[in-house]
Amino acid sequence: MPQYVLDHTILNYLISILSESEYQIIGPVHRNNSLFLEPIKDLKQHPAGFRDVQAPGKFSLEKTNSGKLFEFTHGADSWKKFLYPSEKVLFFANKNTEGKLNFHIENSSSKRYAFFGVRSCELSAINIHDEIFINGQFPDHDYAEIRNNCFIIAVNCTVCSDTCFCASMNTGPEVKSGYDIALTEITDGKNPVLIAKPGSEMGKLFLEKLSPAAASDGLIQKCDEEIASVIKRQKRKVNITAVKDLVKANINSVIFDKISEKCMSCTNCTLVCPTCFCSNIEDTTDITGETGFRIRKWDSCFRENFTEIHGGKIRGSIKSRYRQWLSHKLTNWFDQFGSSGCVGCGRCITWCPAGIDITESAEAFEKPESG
Ligand code: SF4
Ligand code: SF4
Repeated sequence: MPQYVLDHTILNYLISILSESEYQIIGPVHRNNSLFLEPIKDLKQHPAGFRDVQAPGKFSLEKTNSGKLFEFTHGADSWKKFLYPSEKVLFFANKNTEGKLNFHIENSSSKRYAFFGVRSCELSAINIHDEIFINGQFPDHDYAEIRNNCFIIAVNCTVCSDTCFCASMNTGPEVKSGYDIALTEITDGKNPVLIAKPGSEMGKLFLEKLSPAAASDGLIQKCDEEIASVIKRQKRKVNITAVKDLVKANINSVIFDKISEKCMSCTNCTLVCPTCFCSNIEDTTDITGETGFRIRKWDSCFRENFTEIHGGKIRGSIKSRYRQWLSHKLTNWFDQFGSSGCVGCGRCITWCPAGIDITESAEAFEKPESG
């Protein structure tokens, strides 16, 4: 596939022609010293010249004035917010003039999103959800409709946050498939430029509309070098091959007692995780009582009542809930869905108020003396 050089003006033109093609562009925006994924209309809304500072329990943004678009990785939001919304009316029902109930199904299938700035770990998380919601035993038709209409502009990582560990999970830093256009941001002498690679026929068509210049072999090689340097710079890692068996073999380890002493069961780690998808169903009515709604809402295995059935809760202690979460992510997800439930994005580390670090938890199982 040919690769092209885009500057910010050409990239903004890509955003405008996607909008004209009825796509709603979703990209990162910057507010309150944090990053959010929201609808954008113009590249001016993108937080250019900011880098993220992430550590266990900490997130902030620093201005760099470099003009670069992608010096940060991601905030708490993940793309599941649009593919699998936190709250969705599944159907509502009201009485007709004859007093009989009419049921109406809510449909999101008309949505056409163009995701701008999807990282490799995030694309891996989307692929995991595709296997569950499109190809799995119980397909979610709404998810499939939204997903099949998605246009993905991915970004190869030439920066990494201190909490990233995608390289060890084999989910990054380079996007390998599942995108329409992949961008790599490098510096051409002194100015930032983006090297764009089409990943689908649709991506190729949109890029050709921009009439961009071809990227030289030298620029393409520079991209490869910058991506490779991210692998060396990642400090955190998980030896997933070993850990998936070690956690299962040590399911009664005191390691879980030690970690869960700090855990507040706040649910943050599950809500920010791009692969977590537990939900609950609630039935409610409007204030008149005339219309009833069935609503699906994100839920969390850290919630005390998550496992409540007749006779009580199955996982009443925080330890049992932390153990469920970690062992599902790193072990049982393989049995259930054929892959790890963790893609190494590091969000659960950054957004845990207690600073609990999944890479440290995993490492503890490789050092039996710590248990
Ligand atoms: S591990 Fe951290 S983020 Fe997750 S529930 Fe416990 S305190 Fe909250
Ligand atoms: S478990 Fe943590 S690091 Fe892994 S994908 Fe979820 S949020 Fe990211």
